[in-house]
Amino acid sequence: MTVIDNKPLPTPPASPIEVDWPPLLANLPSGRYAISGATWLRVPEDTTFEDLPRYMVVKERESQPAAPQSAREWKVRGSKGNEYIVTQRGSDSRQIFFSCTCVGYGFRRKCKHVDSIKKQIEAK
Ligand SMILES: [Zn+2]
Repeated sequence: MTVIDNKPLPTPPASPIEVDWPPLLANLPSGRYAISGATWLRVPEDTTFEDLPRYMVVKERESQPAAPQSAREWKVRGSKGNEYIVTQRGSDSRQIFFSCTCVGYGFRRKCKHVDSIKKQIEAK
């Protein structure tokens, strides 16, 4: 381990540590820490959230549960002129999951907006 003379402690790692979760910053009596799960790393006192990628990067995982690129969105206009967003996640036909931003979906987990999008897809 290399210690930089004019910066006794803490010494930033030569390359960021790979972690499983996006890191958080915490101020503790013993100093400032970047924390991700069980990984704690002491960082300089003036470290900001924007500096964190220098110390910790989130590991790329092969199968993210809800990968953004597999999500599709449709804007649906409701009967009162409101606009709702229907989101489809998952590309495997058995695992496709729809959600909608309208109140009805929030209560019943189904709504006409989702139904209309499903019909559009099935019609293809
Ligand atoms: Zn809806």
